[in-house]
Amino acid sequence: MNEVVAFPTFSVTIVPCLRDNYAYLLTAPGGALPVPGDAAIVIDAGEAAAVNAALAGPVRSRPPANLLTTASRETAGPLPQRPVRSRPPANLLTTASRETAGPLPQGPVRLRLGAILATHHHLDHVGGHRELLEKTPNIPVFGSAYDGAQARIFGQTRLLEDGETFDVPFRASPFAGVRVQAFHVPGHTLGALAYLVDGVALFTGDTWFLGGCGRLFEGTPAQMRESLTRMAALGDDIVVFPGHEYTVGNLAFAVATGGTPARAQALRAAEEARAAGRPTVPSTIGAERQTNPFLQTADVAEFAKLRAAKDVF
Ligand SMILES: [Zn+2]
Repeated sequence: MNEVVAFPTFSVTIVPCLRDNYAYLLTAPGGALPVPGDAAIVIDAGEAAAVNAALAGPVRSRPPANLLTTASRETAGPLPQRPVRSRPPANLLTTASRETAGPLPQGPVRLRLGAILATHHHLDHVGGHRELLEKTPNIPVFGSAYDGAQARIFGQTRLLEDGETFDVPFRASPFAGVRVQAFHVPGHTLGALAYLVDGVALFTGDTWFLGGCGRLFEGTPAQMRESLTRMAALGDDIVVFPGHEYTVGNLAFAVATGGTPARAQALRAAEEARAAGRPTVPSTIGAERQTNPFLQTADVAEFAKLRAAKDVF
């Protein structure tokens, strides 16, 4: 059961895949029914099957005076219709979400894939490219210039530099789409990117997890700390979508290394979400600044020590 986070200009469907990865499907705003033929944008297509299932079941959300929406998903083929929980961004969540499953007004609508964005080259983030591109060839595949130079993202067509901005359409007429800015955030890997969509949603891959950060496979502690610092300065209201469901483990570490009421409360909330089978993502930069120990180090030495401690936690 995929959850949907509604923004004014686009919606994000949270697509769990593989063991604990998240792919994200960006679609035209939840306020309108999907138009047949509309394109969707996938970020971190680690597994083609999960992405295809999400494309086959476009979100229908009823919008939102208060942004607390009801969304339904149509499934292709013989599967029964399943409801989709729809959540507003965490910073807009003022009361409990409701979940209902109503009758759907139209026949099946399948979205086509319009673009693939990769945060980095690891297979659990790009492993679905080959199959998706066989089905939908000739769509742009975005990744960093660094990863492109090494040809380590399958099908990559666009090589992005730090700070580069580009538009990705859902449909040409009437135009709908998003403006994306890429940030080069080395640390987990040297080619890692984060994507800021329409200035409100930040897709961080394995660089920034809720309550934590990625392992340093290629970068240095100084690089990772600088990358996190840059992203954390983008604005407290920005909604953070990380590449893995690691929140409970990260916050357990955060509490163990320096428990604060905010960290303890965040851990309880994450445990409750997981117990209910729900994702802990997304959160906001503001909330993360209160709870994520990797955003709170005084210097590189402290950061390095913290990262090393987490590696063996
Ligand atoms: Zn990775």
